[in-house]
Amino acid sequence: MTKIEMEQVEQDPDFIALSRQFKATAMELISVLEQKQKTGGRTKVLLETVPIHKLADIFVASFEISFEEQLVMLDSVDLKVRLSKATELVDRHLQSIRVAEKITQKVEGQLSKSQKEFLLRQQMRAIKEELGDNDDDEDDLVALERKMQSAGMPSNIWKHVQKELRRLKKMQPQQPGYTSSRVYLELIADLPWEKASEEIDLDLKAAKERLDSDHYGLVRVKQRIIEYLAVRKLKPDARGPVLCFVGPPGVGKTSLASSIASALGRKFIRISLGGVKDEADIRGHRRTYIGSMPGRLIDGLKRVGVCNPVMLLDEIDKTGSDVRGDPASALLEVLDPEQNKTFNDHYLNVPFDLSKVIFVATANRAQPIPPPLLDRMEVIELPGYTPEEKLRIAMRHLIPRVLDQHGLGSEFLQIPEAMVKLVIQRYTREAGVRNLERNLAALARAAAVKVAEQEQEQALPSSKDVHRLGSPLLDNRLADGAEVEMEVIPMGESTHEVSNTFRITSPLVVDEAMLEKVLGPPRFDDREAAERVAAPGISVGLVWTNFGGEVQFVEATAMRGKGELHLTGQLGDVIKESAQIALTWVRARATDLQLVAEDGMNLLQGRDIHIHFPAGAVPKDGPSAGVTLVTALVSLFSRKRVRADTAMTGEMTLRGLVLPVGGVKDKILAAHRYGIKRVILPERNLKDLVEVPAAVLASLEIILAKRMEDVLEQAFEGGCPWRQHSKL
Ligand code: ADP
Repeated sequence: MTKIEMEQVEQDPDFIALSRQFKATAMELISVLEQKQKTGGRTKVLLETVPIHKLADIFVASFEISFEEQLVMLDSVDLKVRLSKATELVDRHLQSIRVAEKITQKVEGQLSKSQKEFLLRQQMRAIKEELGDNDDDEDDLVALERKMQSAGMPSNIWKHVQKELRRLKKMQPQQPGYTSSRVYLELIADLPWEKASEEIDLDLKAAKERLDSDHYGLVRVKQRIIEYLAVRKLKPDARGPVLCFVGPPGVGKTSLASSIASALGRKFIRISLGGVKDEADIRGHRRTYIGSMPGRLIDGLKRVGVCNPVMLLDEIDKTGSDVRGDPASALLEVLDPEQNKTFNDHYLNVPFDLSKVIFVATANRAQPIPPPLLDRMEVIELPGYTPEEKLRIAMRHLIPRVLDQHGLGSEFLQIPEAMVKLVIQRYTREAGVRNLERNLAALARAAAVKVAEQEQEQALPSSKDVHRLGSPLLDNRLADGAEVEMEVIPMGESTHEVSNTFRITSPLVVDEAMLEKVLGPPRFDDREAAERVAAPGISVGLVWTNFGGEVQFVEATAMRGKGELHLTGQLGDVIKESAQIALTWVRARATDLQLVAEDGMNLLQGRDIHIHFPAGAVPKDGPSAGVTLVTALVSLFSRKRVRADTAMTGEMTLRGLVLPVGGVKDKILAAHRYGIKRVILPERNLKDLVEVPAAVLASLEIILAKRMEDVLEQAFEGGCPWRQHSKL
């Protein structure tokens, strides 16, 4: 280009605009480069001094561009074309630098976040070290490893666990699976692989004394426990049977088991199996499940911390089975001495030796326990207590304990024997002594209120009348609801202090008025049976439930209808069939029993019969209501009332034979509690009477029946009006 040409172009407004744009872009590029390399100073000077057309060449030559682009650049002779090409290339270069920068920034951002975290952690560790505070994760793991080493687990299990530990060490605490793995290892470390409570040299005499001092009566049961302990003394590793205490609630099953533990000097742990339907409750869930846990046995052993405790499997009869498996079959393995050496909990996933554990089981009834399980246990029955036994238990054991729990002593409250008797008769009707204990506790609480109030009065000494029971606090409480039933809550140290600092002149003696005030009006009396059988069609039966024996009334009524039999009261199939048999039997003998006129009219013609078993909400089943059903029907059709002082039990065949039934002892005790005087039993149950306490037998008339006619003869005042010659 000549100088003139050059000058011409420089005047061109298009060229001026283009060159301005080029300079701006180039400037931008330079400043970006400058930021990165800090060497832009000279290039900037270049931009100011060098003529613009040369500048374009210099810039373009310094980039990496393709061969075609270089050719195009050389080819463009016109300054304007050349400049716009150069601007384009510079701009492209600028953009590519920008994009690259953005990407590096992003990557750097991420990197620096984890780097930052790492740095902070390093710092934290340093600070902790400085403070001598070493409980961070890695040290934790070291401690965990040490703990596992000292847990004394078998070598194969140690190997397995080490593998898991190694895996854990490689994990970040935030990583999924870290916590579950750690919880698992901690469980393994906590389990008592070899830690055992030292077995004391068993002193049988002391054990017997201890059993006697803890429990009144139960002579045979205690004798059996002593035998059990004696065998253990002679042969500590003997594979004795598993004892299973069977009896109604509150008869001392749990406390006997804990006495065994203290006699052996071992720790005691109770595992409640009531309502367990899931096999996983016994065996645990596999660790693949979210929220998996070990089973109750392993969990119990972890809590108790020794491998040889006395373990009470409470309410073993209340396990059920459903789709989630059968807990009973898992228990089979637990109780089998051959198998429980390598008990496999799904969560634990390594075998654990349960053979050093002494198992004791309790159940309300033996019958629901699956036979294979029952086969591994020795059933020891604890019948309910007689009122006399309850009285002794209350005087010797319950009252001192209740007073102690409430921070009272006999100098504050005295409960005379006659009053305890009244509590037993009027406020409880149970086989065990749990409600009795609760009622006594209610009395103690009332007394505690008085003592606390007296202390206040003493602070402002006005009244000397310390025995006034109508204290405002107590009255308020009684106004809210006369019945006071609460759990016994030990009052702890503070009350002891009150009692000790506080002196009263004479103790508060419980009388009948106080009983009514604290416990409410009497809940039971002996007149119930008489009132309920006041009309024909009602008879008194005896049944066997989880709570021991019970008196069961049977009501029958007839009305105009189509000859149907209605049954209500939540009855099972067996009891429904008993009702059918009873009705058939009565119909077949209607004439003999003089229930219809001589012409033998059908009893059911034009009549429906309805039989009801109160209480209607409690499910009932079993064949032993047979004789009671017949008696109710005969009473209904003959319009004669049955004797209110007579209760009965027995299965009946279609031909009128009376078959023996179970639970005789509990049933007789229940009749005794109800104030019933005569009990009709199947003749073949005579052998069961030896188990009934003599005191109870002495107060009852037991009538043995072979045939249904015998039952009817005894159930009605003056016998039953059938024709004697028609007896089969
Ligand atoms: P279970 O396990 O049979 O339901 P517990 O063992 O819990 O009953 O007994 C309930 C309460 O009755 C306990 O406080 C226990 O000490 C007491 N008890 C039961 N029987 C006797 C007894 N024969 N002598 C003394 N206390 C007894």
